Amino acid sequence: MCLTEIIRTYTDRSKFWNLLLESTCFLEAHTTSDVAFGLKIVTTLGVKFATRSGGHQQNVGFSSIEDGVVLDLNRLNSSNLSKDHKTVRLGTGNRWGEVYKGLEKYGLAAVGGRSGDVGVGGLILGVEGIPFFSSKYGFACDNVQQFEVVLANSTVVKATSNSHPDLFRALKGGGPNYGIVTHFTLYTIPTNIWYHVAQYNESDYKQVLSAIVATQARMEDDSNAGILFSGSNGTMMVGLLYAEPTANPPVYSAFDSLKPVRTLAPPTIGTIPKLVDVFTANSPTARYLSFAISYETDLDLYKSAYGSFISRQHFTSPTKGALQYGIQTITKAAVQAGEKRGGNWLGMKPVSTNWWHVVAAWFDEKDDKAAHAASTGMVKNMTDLATDAGKYLDFQFQNDADVSQSPLKSYGEENFKKFAAVAASYDPQQVFQKLQNSGFKISTA
Ligand SMILES: Cc1cc2nc3c(=O)[nH]c(=O)nc-3n(C[C@H](O)[C@H](O)[C@H](O)COP(=O)(O)OP(=O)(O)OC[C@H]3O[C@@H](n4cnc5c(N)ncnc54)[C@H](O)[C@@H]3O)c2cc1C
Repeated sequence: MCLTEIIRTYTDRSKFWNLLLESTCFLEAHTTSDVAFGLKIVTTLGVKFATRSGGHQQNVGFSSIEDGVVLDLNRLNSSNLSKDHKTVRLGTGNRWGEVYKGLEKYGLAAVGGRSGDVGVGGLILGVEGIPFFSSKYGFACDNVQQFEVVLANSTVVKATSNSHPDLFRALKGGGPNYGIVTHFTLYTIPTNIWYHVAQYNESDYKQVLSAIVATQARMEDDSNAGILFSGSNGTMMVGLLYAEPTANPPVYSAFDSLKPVRTLAPPTIGTIPKLVDVFTANSPTARYLSFAISYETDLDLYKSAYGSFISRQHFTSPTKGALQYGIQTITKAAVQAGEKRGGNWLGMKPVSTNWWHVVAAWFDEKDDKAAHAASTGMVKNMTDLATDAGKYLDFQFQNDADVSQSPLKSYGEENFKKFAAVAASYDPQQVFQKLQNSGFKISTA
């Protein structure tokens, strides 16, 4: 067997995002055959396991386990560009920052995460990618040409739109229910873009949100345009991000009259990895909770929700942690781009949407309860406001969702049945439902 390291207690948490549980057994796979063999051991012994690619999942226990085996895939980190440069085959253990840097010299990138530390595998299986370029390219899962998967019985299949098409579709957003994906073949995209990332004062929130909503309307006619917004602790970060190297695109003119308090990246014709460095540097590294809901774009709703966030964000002293409020703008074109690339079963309405998320980031264990209460309180408040405004949407973005949420069910009953049927057909013994420690599983949806 080529599983080169079996460590009784794995304690190096430094390279991972969240509190990882300490496992009793740790299997580090270097090849697809290692994964197949590791899974065979697990299923033969009937022991519980967790699969880990980047280890960046915020829900404790999704990619770690105390009494069981971790199948760690971080060494599956190859990156091979095709001869025609149209696709790149990535091992699941890559992190996006490295992927982008490796492709940059060819003038290329792929649709992946905005933070360089996030792993390839978990991100793609959870739907998204760089939300700001989804109008042009669709979601990360829509950009997969082929999934190489180790099934529950340890056979290896390559799922494409023609071969195992049901599995191919189910892996687009279906989470860890079908097998262990060892390699993803993704379509490449150009790396050259334009961006401007700035911070505004929280007291200007009404003007900033007005500019975002005005831009969202214009984005419906310009698929290169995207915006990212994150507010916390008195300031609001806004990323204006354009998928072409075009200086000062007019689609963002609503921001011309606003005065930032700090510039994180001046207007720049740059590349995706340079932009990702800006976001990675400004990512929180702490105890972490994240919840996701979605609603249709509406200025009054944006303003009332942010107003209520301002009064709720501090659950401890500002230096020890706070809530963060995220807006991820999704256009009609983003949903249609996915359909053009073979479609998915995510059940998204083709309307201008905010994939809203609230994050609690803090440092001290004694603030755990307060952080949880503040974030669930904010989610309830946001849900009520969106429902009352008639703008609430069922869709929950899996990569941002909390374990208490149910993104698979949020795709709609008919779609959920399709996801469940494919899981039953490829995993009749229910290995991924019964032996897998946690995750967004069909059996617990
Ligand atoms: C600061 C920050 C920034 C983020 N930015 C983005 C972003 O821009 N876009 C976005 O979409 N998300 C983003 N996320 C969310 C992120 O995508 C998810 O946390 C994702 O699950 C992380 O992937 P990973 O491989 O690192 O995770 P892991 O912790 O390794 O795995 C996540 C889940 O997927 C399962 N899994 C992992 N690999 C495999 C595999 N090969 N086969 C089967 N199952 C597998 C695991 O068992 C687990 O359930 C961000 C998160 C943070 C904290």
